[in-house]
Amino acid sequence: MQRHLHSFRGVDKPIFELGEGEIEYGMGIHGERGTLRTSWVEADVLTEKMYRDLMADADIKSGDEICVLVNGLGSTTLLELSVVYRKLKELLDKDHIRVYDSDLNNYCTSQEMGGFSISVMKLDEELKLYYDMPCQSPFYVKGELTGCNVRSEAAEKAALPEAVENDEEEAVIVRSKEGPLEELSAEDARNMLLYIANKVIAKKGYLTEVDSATGDGDHGIGMAGGMQKMKRALLKIENPENVYEIFETAGKAMLLSMGGASGVIFGSLFYAGAEGMEKKKALKALDFAEMERKSLRAVKERGKAKPGDKTMVDALEPAVTAMEINAEKGLPEMLKAAEEAAMQGIENTKQYRAKFGRAKSLMDRAIGYQDAGATSVWLIFQGMREFVEGEEILAGAESKDNGEER
Ligand code: ADP
Ligand code: MG
Repeated sequence: MQRHLHSFRGVDKPIFELGEGEIEYGMGIHGERGTLRTSWVEADVLTEKMYRDLMADADIKSGDEICVLVNGLGSTTLLELSVVYRKLKELLDKDHIRVYDSDLNNYCTSQEMGGFSISVMKLDEELKLYYDMPCQSPFYVKGELTGCNVRSEAAEKAALPEAVENDEEEAVIVRSKEGPLEELSAEDARNMLLYIANKVIAKKGYLTEVDSATGDGDHGIGMAGGMQKMKRALLKIENPENVYEIFETAGKAMLLSMGGASGVIFGSLFYAGAEGMEKKKALKALDFAEMERKSLRAVKERGKAKPGDKTMVDALEPAVTAMEINAEKGLPEMLKAAEEAAMQGIENTKQYRAKFGRAKSLMDRAIGYQDAGATSVWLIFQGMREFVEGEEILAGAESKDNGEER
């Protein structure tokens, strides 16, 4: 249950706001929309609703033993959490469910967010044994561990701060020749992906805003982070000769750095099509279309999403089909058709309910909103088309693309 607005590091406005006296119920910890938005009710009423919903879902019955966590979301006080727990304990006692341990604290929080969550864990003898063991982690400490503050040299090295996201020198985008490209050399492919990375990074706020409507509002942050890692990996390749190696390197950097569903999905978009392909100096339109078809297959296999499920597949599948249909017209025309198909794909996602991720629980409330991942796919294809055509690059628009948004 959440009250108050909630903000994200890296985004300059709240990812959602609640009106005076409004609460959202069933939300995710990152501000994913909940199952119900309603007006303010007392803590006892909310706690009872939450208890009933939890019990309807959990396999817990009279006589069972559980651990309870009442977690504050950021700005809720211990006193307020105690109010919730008092009611909860009363309900548990009535149902003869025994509380082995309870914990009231702020563990899983979001900046500026008011509200609370309740978690229960059913115990058996084995779990009880582990539960009682001492442990030490940055946010959860229990009992006493000896020797845990002795750091090895390797641990010291590992603890060195990672380079920050924007410390990379801006890559200069170059093309092998002026005018439209009819094939992509390895060097062109690298520059095209660097150009796409700049574009996606510039749209971080926009993608996050799109994801906030139905998801958890982190898509822009995830994509921008992955693209930054991709740039770094691409810039390290010396004298690239194999085009597929470029796409593999790019995808791998995203797969390894992004995490979550979208890391696998967007990493595969570049990696899977190129993986295991025989070395090639340059890609022609048909090779490119074949590579993307292979990527699409992998994305669908890994993510299990079908067209109509309100995911990036709704943009990628029509884009790949458009590539195949238009491959004989050459690279620029083919990518133009793919970009248009991806844009239509975004439009289509607005009509769908979601089958995956956070948006799934919104049911009809997701209708009318475009999918964030589909929007990224469109941006990627737009970047491909612009690079291959060359006009935008000449105009020097590559890293300053803050322009019009869909
Ligand atoms: P997360 O869902 O972990 O917060 P992001 O916000 O970065 O990750 O990405 C969300 C996007 O990922 C969605 O908009 C959707 O397009 C895409 N996506 C999520 N799950 C799948 C899936 N199973 N198959 C294809 N695409 C998916
Ligand atoms: Mg998200």
